[in-house]
Amino acid sequence: MAEKERKLTKAEARRVENFAVLSERLQSEGYKVTKCDVSAAKVNIYTLVLFIPFGIVYWLLFRLTGTPLINIEVIDYFDNVAVLIAVAIGIYVVSSAIMIVVHEALHGLTWALFCKNRFQSIQFGIIPRNLMAYCTCLEPLDFKAYLVGAMMPLVVLGFGVFAVSLITGSLYWFLFANFATLGAGGDMSIVLMLLGHRQALLLDHPTEPGFYAFEKTT
Ligand SMILES: [Zn+2]
Repeated sequence: MAEKERKLTKAEARRVENFAVLSERLQSEGYKVTKCDVSAAKVNIYTLVLFIPFGIVYWLLFRLTGTPLINIEVIDYFDNVAVLIAVAIGIYVVSSAIMIVVHEALHGLTWALFCKNRFQSIQFGIIPRNLMAYCTCLEPLDFKAYLVGAMMPLVVLGFGVFAVSLITGSLYWFLFANFATLGAGGDMSIVLMLLGHRQALLLDHPTEPGFYAFEKTT
């Protein structure tokens, strides 16, 4: 399928070059290459479907803390509904921004541990057309390394923060864990594709979400 032409940023153009060199080298060493990418529309659908079981389990367990999902005391504290909504939006925006930064940092920190060139092989950026932050690795990684790096935000910000919400009974951390799990939907879609390439070397797509799997044909 033909990809839509678009102007690449300087960082993207360098990654395309780096990818071409690595891809050529690996193929000359006898690796067969498979492109594993997923469209943004499909990621959104997978994200919602994958979130449902987590959301149900989170909710069932959080009920055990006895913390109500609607906190009347907090609502009563603000006698003006507009102020309440403004504060809620403010908390949401700031929390989301922090969540995005930590999410991408966790990918980068984890993958850097497995890279020969450590942080020199990690790049962060933003895709303005779909307002998406990303972290990408310039070195091919084996299955376990790629998997651990891809799952780290879900484990820390999703499962870890959810555990904090259970211990503290905090509605804020409960909601944070739910949004963080939703935010890891793209990573979960990628992990599902990854499961079919356990013996492969995995190299991030230079410009789009997804990866290329390099497998020995013999
Ligand atoms: Zn991610």
